[in-house]
Amino acid sequence: MNTDKSKAFFERAQKSIPGGVSSPVRACKSVGCDPVFIERAAGSKVYDVDGNEYIDFVCSWGPMILGHAPAVVTEAIAEAMKKGTSFGAPTPLEVELAEMVCDAMPSVEKVRFVSSGTEATMSAIRLARGYTKKNVVVKFDGCYHGHADSFLVKAGSGVITLGIPGSPGVPEDIVKNTISIPYNNFEILEKTLTEEADTIACLIMEPVAANMGVIPPAPGFLEKARELTKANNIVLIFDEVITGFRLSLGGAQKKFNIMPDLTCMGKIIGGGLPVGAYGGRSDIMNMIAPNGPVYQAGTLSGNPLAMAAGIATLKELAKPGFYDELDRKAAKFASELEALAAKYSIPATLNRAGSVMTTFFTDGPVTDFDSAMTSDAERYGFFYREMLDQGIYLAPSQFEGAFISEAHSTEELAKTLEKTESSFRKVSQS
Ligand SMILES: *Cc1c(COP(=O)(O)O)cnc(C)c1O
Repeated sequence: MNTDKSKAFFERAQKSIPGGVSSPVRACKSVGCDPVFIERAAGSKVYDVDGNEYIDFVCSWGPMILGHAPAVVTEAIAEAMKKGTSFGAPTPLEVELAEMVCDAMPSVEKVRFVSSGTEATMSAIRLARGYTKKNVVVKFDGCYHGHADSFLVKAGSGVITLGIPGSPGVPEDIVKNTISIPYNNFEILEKTLTEEADTIACLIMEPVAANMGVIPPAPGFLEKARELTKANNIVLIFDEVITGFRLSLGGAQKKFNIMPDLTCMGKIIGGGLPVGAYGGRSDIMNMIAPNGPVYQAGTLSGNPLAMAAGIATLKELAKPGFYDELDRKAAKFASELEALAAKYSIPATLNRAGSVMTTFFTDGPVTDFDSAMTSDAERYGFFYREMLDQGIYLAPSQFEGAFISEAHSTEELAKTLEKTESSFRKVSQS
């Protein structure tokens, strides 16, 4: 496969953009190659600047649940665009999307729009701190909640992949208010939330972890988190930036039937445009300015193009049977993938939640950060390069999910399995 033009762009990009990329995980360092530059995308495919076609399992890291450039979404954006791209004033579109979000997400009574997942999570913890008048944030090792200072402690894929422990530039004074504990560990959770209850403002968690590879919660773990936070006056925040509108229209909270106090959203909610949101109980949300004293703002928040894309996307997701069909497709694909790993005697553990999954190159089980770290990341790098060369575009890290969209056809998934088989054969011989 010829990637000369991508190579030239990467050379050029490095002169004007740090590392040549606008977000570090795109750099492909951990999989031992250079990134390809994408020119366009349609359906399940992305096309690079050299004209190579790939079946895409990154899906922009989650948002493209309908596939790329679905007409319903691009037309909605075009329609909105004709009326102006930003007003810095309230619009009917944001009311419509807010109502759709409140209807879809069981625990969300009010919602505030922002422009990224990072903004959603950092605003949600500020709100939790303002509401409880306590300072400490508890998170889980390997969960990622965006790049705000408070979260850069054992923070999942991007940081793991680069081998950066936290990040320089994050003051000790800030992270001393963050406690990070192992995912799926009931005893440590209970001990932490009860013993430190007087100082803890919130527990923030991915209800299904998806930034150290996909790791579902152990049975009863979300219930335990809910029970302990409630008992100790701690705000429970579900970071549903990946799981929201992915596991079901109502996210993980609907799927597992747990009501968090606050929910963070991003990715799918913007239909491929930059949108984030946080919402939850009215009494907590009413603490935000201008209703209350907790300040949070945004010049482009509720942007009309982004709202139009979100509305068009959510309307598709609300159609009967959407998730059943997607999950069925993903389940079949996953079981065939597992069978292939077994056939070539490759130690592998496949974790899946609906239409997002990770194949960890380890015997497993993978239930937390430490067990995820037993994966053979070097082997993944080899596998990644083999797959890319055969036209399959995976996340350039062992510790990410592979996303399946509505646009991935049965034929394309079968083709992906064929390419996987030939790559596994080479992996087993390497
Ligand atoms: C992607 C992600 C974020 C950050 O969202 P950005 O839009 O990249 O800022 C936060 N939380 C989770 C769970 C995510 O997957």
